[in-house]
Parts: sequence; C-alpha cells; structure tokens
Amino acid sequence: MEQRGGEAVRKFNLMKKILVTGGCGYIGSHTAIEIQQQGKYEVISIDSCINSHENTVDRVKAITGKDYKNHKVDLVDLEATRAVFRQYDDIVGVIHFAALKAVGESVEKPMEYYHNNFESLINICKCCEEFNIPNLIFSSSCSIYGNVEKLPVSEDTPTSGAESPYAYTKLVGEEMLKAYVRSQDKVKVVALRYFNPVGSHPTGLNGELPINKPTNLVPVITQTAAGIIPKMMVFGGDYDTRDGSCIRDYIHVVDIAEAHIKALDYLLENKNQAPYEVYNLGTGEGISVIEAINAFEAVTGQKLNYEIADRRAGDVVAIYSDSTQALERLGWKTKLGIEEMMASAWKWQKNLGVKK
Ligand code: UDP
Repeated sequence: MEQRGGEAVRKFNLMKKILVTGGCGYIGSHTAIEIQQQGKYEVISIDSCINSHENTVDRVKAITGKDYKNHKVDLVDLEATRAVFRQYDDIVGVIHFAALKAVGESVEKPMEYYHNNFESLINICKCCEEFNIPNLIFSSSCSIYGNVEKLPVSEDTPTSGAESPYAYTKLVGEEMLKAYVRSQDKVKVVALRYFNPVGSHPTGLNGELPINKPTNLVPVITQTAAGIIPKMMVFGGDYDTRDGSCIRDYIHVVDIAEAHIKALDYLLENKNQAPYEVYNLGTGEGISVIEAINAFEAVTGQKLNYEIADRRAGDVVAIYSDSTQALERLGWKTKLGIEEMMASAWKWQKNLGVKK
C-alpha cells in the first residue's frame, strides 16, 4: 500500500506545469479550470491580486476539486518573478494574462498602463528564456484593430491604430514579441486576440468579479438586473448599424479558455509554422448592444431598466471576427452562443447577490 501511495505522490510531482500569470483573474481562472479538468498539467499562478481576489483559487477548487498555488508577486519586479520561476523546473509553457485592462482608466493613467503592461511582458520574456520555457501564449485584444473599413476582421486586417493606451500596450506588446522571437530561438509565441469575452462558468461558481464599478456591458447588464445599478445606459443609439447601437463579437469565456489549451498544445506539439503566430478569438457573429439586452431578457426572464444615452468616447462602431485561421490551424471554434453567455452570467450574478 505504502509503495503504491509513494508512487502516486511521485507521479503527481512529475506532472508538468503550466504557469498562468493572472491566474486569479477572469480569463486566467477559467483557463486554470480547463487545464485542471483536462488533467495533463498542473497549474501555477502568479497574480499580484491588485485587480483580482486570492480566493478565486478556492472557487476553482469547488469546480475542479483541485486548487493551485498563486504566488502574489508583481511581474514588474523581475527579481521576485525570477524567484517564482526558480522554484519549478518542469514548467512547459507560460500563459501571460496578467495586465491592466480598463480602456477608460488607461486614458486617465497611461503611464501606469505602459509601465505595468510593458515591464511585465519584458520580464516574462526574460524568464522564459532564462529558465528554458519554450512556449509562451500572450493575451492580446481585438482593440488593436481600431476602426476598420472592412468586416469581419481577419489577422491580416491592417490596424488603423490603437484608440486607447490600453489597446496600444497590446499593439506594441505584439511588436515586442515579434522582435523577441527574431532575437532568440528558445521561445516561441502565440498571441491570441480576444474579441469580447463574457459569461461565467456554467456551474455559476466562477465568473467576472469587477473590483470597482463595472464598465463592461455584461456585468453592467447583470448588476442592473440584480438592482445594484438602478438604470443602465446604452452608449449611442445613432450609429450606422441595424438598430443604432454598437456591434461587438461576444465570446463565452469558457470557449476562450479552451482556445488557450489548443494554442499551447499546438506549440508543445511543434505544429507552428513560424516562431510567432497570431489568432483572432471570436464567434464571427456581430451582436448589437440592444440585441445583447434582448437576449439577456429572453434567456433570464428579467426586465432591464435601460435608456439610450450619448456615445461613449473611444468606442468603435462595429467589430467582429473572422476566426477561420484559429479553426484551420489550432482546430478551435466556439461552442457556446449568446444564450449560454447570458444564462451563465446571470447564474454567477445570482451567486454573488441580487438586491431585489
Ligand atoms: N456598453 C453600453 N453600456 C454600458 C457598457 C457598455 O452600451 O454600460 C456598450 C459599449 O458602448 C460597447 C459595448 O457595450 O458598444 C461593449 O462594451 P464593453 O465595454 O463591454 O467592451 P469593449 O468593446 O469596449 O471592449
């Protein structure tokens, strides 16, 4: 018996590791769930928790039965970051989610965004190289495209320039990574450009947890339905779209999480054609703000108190993805639609609490 037990422990210790930065955040924690449920790798997280909660690890454990270690370290601190990498000699890949990500805040505090997002990316690249970790996945964003002339956008659509300092950190982050892979041959990179990740884990046990007042559409919708926000605003009703409101490509966070596993496997199996590749992650379907509100009401039976307000500065009119390349190369496509996005987001909100 003892021997078998010992073997089990040894096997567990032999499990290769994926280091997830931002593992207590929204997309990081959902990806950790999918990695754990897949069962091939152990998750290690680095998250300073300035914009997330340490107890996310417990929520993940409630879903998967397994927890993971979060190192509460600021990635801008190279020595502290190195100290985490030094503790593990069997990390096979890094998924770099951690970043400041609020568009509006980035306009007010551009230097904080540049300092944090650039320095942390540089330090992650340094550590991957120093500690011989050959595979890096980078969280990028469709915001790098700006206002485009032709829809849907594919990876080859030229960017019209970033509309905010946040978007600029992703645009330049991608450029940094391109130069990085040219400068060395140890680490290869896939950048994933997310469209609008929304929704929660289908169990309703994990989801987006905005620390401040939410600014993204779906948390605003669920908090309005919950009576926390008395009335929500639809920013702009006079755009040149089918109902006058902006159009986005909303994608379920669980689909996004799965894409990271596919991208990592793709690199681990050396299927990549170039040392740096980039993929759009979207459903391919554009949904207007009004349509999103209607979908929420239809799925949940909740009435939303909303009004059409002025346009929000910095919003692009319409954007949705051509995700053919992710299907053809990574073998990934979305499985969940707007109904699952809204139903799961509402389940999570009810778990967090409703006022009425
Ligand atoms: N939006 C809105 N009211 C809100 C929050 C967002 O009408 O309270 C709109 C916003 O103008 C945009 C869409 O919802 O057209 C998606 O916004 P979000 O901030 O979620 O994501 P973004 O596309 O800006 O990254």
